[in-house]
Amino acid sequence: MKQAAAHIGGCQCGRSSFDVTGTPKFVAHCHCRDCRRATGAPFVTWVGWLDHQVEWIGQPRSQYSSSAGVARGFCAQCGSPLSYQGRKWPGETHLVVGAFEDADAFEPNGEVFADEALHWVKTKD
Ligand SMILES: [Zn+2]
Ligand SMILES: [Zn+2]
Repeated sequence: MKQAAAHIGGCQCGRSSFDVTGTPKFVAHCHCRDCRRATGAPFVTWVGWLDHQVEWIGQPRSQYSSSAGVARGFCAQCGSPLSYQGRKWPGETHLVVGAFEDADAFEPNGEVFADEALHWVKTKD
């Protein structure tokens, strides 16, 4: 993983964007059904940060509670999924890898909810 000091990203229309600094805590694929529903993608790759590393710019993102204690952030204008915060991970903000300008810099090092993965999804060689 390239560990540039700063990364920027945001939604498709540019209404909500973010600026993060430092190194992420993790980069992981999540195969859970809620992530699938929230994004329409077969799985979601999350980049995990501490809240204080993430600075939001522009219009505040909208939030949806997909289950108790969970807030999924998205742009109300263009619908892009952006973030996940859950009480299981206090103090953390997880951002979808696809929202980053330099998504290629974040190489995944883990997988969660592998038991819910679609059988045709292969994330490794
Ligand atoms: Zn947008
Ligand atoms: Zn998930």
